[in-house]
Amino acid sequence: MSKFIVSNVKCAICGKESHQNVVLSTSSFGKPDLDLRPRGMARELLTKELQVCPHCSYSYSDISEKYEGQDAIRLIIEKSDMPQDMASAYVHAARVQEYIKNYKSASLFYLRAAWILDDNNESVLAVQMRKSAARCLEIDVKNTLDCEDAILLVDILRRAGDFDRAIFYINDIGLTEDALYDGILALEKRLVESKDSACHSLDEVGNE
Ligand SMILES: [Zn+2]
Repeated sequence: MSKFIVSNVKCAICGKESHQNVVLSTSSFGKPDLDLRPRGMARELLTKELQVCPHCSYSYSDISEKYEGQDAIRLIIEKSDMPQDMASAYVHAARVQEYIKNYKSASLFYLRAAWILDDNNESVLAVQMRKSAARCLEIDVKNTLDCEDAILLVDILRRAGDFDRAIFYINDIGLTEDALYDGILALEKRLVESKDSACHSLDEVGNE
């Protein structure tokens, strides 16, 4: 079961309190999509994962968390409007994270915005969000050389229709000596070669 509670949370940016959902645990059934979007309750919980401060518009997974860069965050949110829906709240959170050069986190927030837009059949905007997610994740992967993130980047690029960049990273990663990773990359390669930008799941890995 997925569990969350409503708690009084003090915003780390403006210092004011508000009621926020605090996710305690999530569960998912079945294998996720290739971009790791979960199934089951965890998918439903997506819209409750993000906290938005109603006083200053700061959006993050935990708005009470203090860390370096708070002054920079304060500057950027002063110039932005209050998010009107969950997709724009995720975009808002992503922009803050990108601004403070937390590129992996920014990428994941852009991707979550894309998932919500997928569900709303707003495919043009979803592609834009995936391009932003890819832009941030590329910077992160160049720094960390993280294989899992590079594989995620391939799927984000494919879903954004950027097949040339997707194939570049498939070739760049090469063989990983991990059967699951190699299976995902083989599937991605087949999808990219057939210019398939649709959603596919980890269930399909190994069915080549
Ligand atoms: Zn606030």
